[in-house]
Amino acid sequence: MRFRRTMTVIVGVIFLVFGWRTVTLALHSLQNHPDNISSRQEERFADVIPAYSTQKENDISDTTEEIILVNKDHPLEETYQPDLVKLRDYGVEVDREIYDSLLSMLQDGEKEGLEFWVASGYRSMERQRELLDEDIEALMKKGSSPSEAYEEVVQETMPVGCSEHATGLAVDIVAKDYQILDEKQARTEEIQWLQDHCSRYGFILRYPEDKEDITKVSYESWHFRYVGVTAAKEIMEKGITLEEYLDGK
Ligand SMILES: [Zn+2]
Repeated sequence: MRFRRTMTVIVGVIFLVFGWRTVTLALHSLQNHPDNISSRQEERFADVIPAYSTQKENDISDTTEEIILVNKDHPLEETYQPDLVKLRDYGVEVDREIYDSLLSMLQDGEKEGLEFWVASGYRSMERQRELLDEDIEALMKKGSSPSEAYEEVVQETMPVGCSEHATGLAVDIVAKDYQILDEKQARTEEIQWLQDHCSRYGFILRYPEDKEDITKVSYESWHFRYVGVTAAKEIMEKGITLEEYLDGK
């Protein structure tokens, strides 16, 4: 009687061990099947998410690999979707990642008696396309061919996907009492303060004077891009562009 019970237990244990082994083997081979690559990638992605979000709190852009380069040679993917939040009273949206730093920068400047206006934040690729189309159309009405008009327009306005505004990580900030985006903007106290202090908040002057050959964009004293404090300090102290900074890494 005791012997039979012992045998039953042993057989049960063997069955459990081997049965489970068969199940895990089957699962393992299923996971490695080529048809399952995308689901495996999703799993891997799921593993990354917790680390990513904790890092984000600590300023994710402090690591070079997280700094997105967007320019005429590096257009943004059409599917790129920032995590947008509305910015206080300016009616613009920015990526959640830059929200706190941007507000601290503006508030600290306001404490110095400055008055800012955030003229642009996130701009969708559709909106960028509309802006280009409007300008191209206007030139064509004046007699330019479509290709001539396009070439002329992209000297001033970024082609679709090449504008940093589509990332939600860039803002155009101007003086509240002088909102024109021209060379005089650089002489306002607001812009001078921003250029001197932006790196402390993780922002850089993205299109500096005399760097047009590298950025392919003429001087924009008002366009600030968030890259995180470490990169921003190095870029602004050395007086280099984001392109040069990333090249050196
Ligand atoms: Zn801009």
